[in-house]
Amino acid sequence: MITLTNVRKEYNSDVAIGPVTLEIPSGGITALVGPNGAGKSTLLTMVGRLLAMDSGEITVAQHDVSSTSSKDLAKIISILRQENHFVTKLTVRQLVGFGRFPYSKGRLNAEDEQIISRYIDFLNLTDLENRYLDQLSGGQRQRAYVAMVLCQETDYVLLDEPLNNLDIAHSVEMMKHLQSAAREFGRTIIVVLHDINFAARYADYICAVKGGKIAEFGTPREVMRDDILTEIFNTPVQVIDGPNGLLAVYH
Ligand code: ADP
Ligand code: MG
Repeated sequence: MITLTNVRKEYNSDVAIGPVTLEIPSGGITALVGPNGAGKSTLLTMVGRLLAMDSGEITVAQHDVSSTSSKDLAKIISILRQENHFVTKLTVRQLVGFGRFPYSKGRLNAEDEQIISRYIDFLNLTDLENRYLDQLSGGQRQRAYVAMVLCQETDYVLLDEPLNNLDIAHSVEMMKHLQSAAREFGRTIIVVLHDINFAARYADYICAVKGGKIAEFGTPREVMRDDILTEIFNTPVQVIDGPNGLLAVYH
């Protein structure tokens, strides 16, 4: 479980995120949705301790994020930022290998290599594993970053807009990968998604953020309602019952 208690971040006198109090249950996928600038990335990076909060408390699996050592935290939680995507002369395999750093300290052993291969395979990157990152399409590169984060093998995985740069087919594929990472490997995945319909289709819980506060938290059935989505996204939204579940339609 992840808990946030009265968490606040004040960037300046105009922009304050929080106070947020929230419990995210263990297991499954929780989608963070909401308009641009709502505070999704701020909340996610504070949970991953890439950004210091001004006040409040965050725990991940009962570890206080502020006081747990980086070494221990890196074995509990991994995070893919929205824009950390330092493209350098690294191959896919080398990048994914960085996910093993909390265990290997830079010296990969045979078990690490096996784990690296598993996640390269899991994200269908085997044919590309010796390519340099700057020789990939945006979508292939995005998959390599996700493979790196999963390769860290933490119980909690935070992903900020991992569907960026992916076309519809690859977005669907990525969400299915995340679903199986949650189901087969028992991971708890918190993912910022741009598209509410992907959240409705693949997430177990939807957490809607608006104006730096949590506007709604619930199952897709609970959150996918005309009035709720219209309010969150500031534009008329209609929810229809499609063949594969609920679908938001914008006017
Ligand atoms: P989201 O991910 O939901 O689009 P963010 O968490 O990135 O939103 O941003 C929330 C608000 O905080 C926005 O108004 C944004 O402009 C502001 N903000 C984000 N980062 C900074 C920063 N480093 N300095 C000042 N304001 C920031
Ligand atoms: Mg963001």
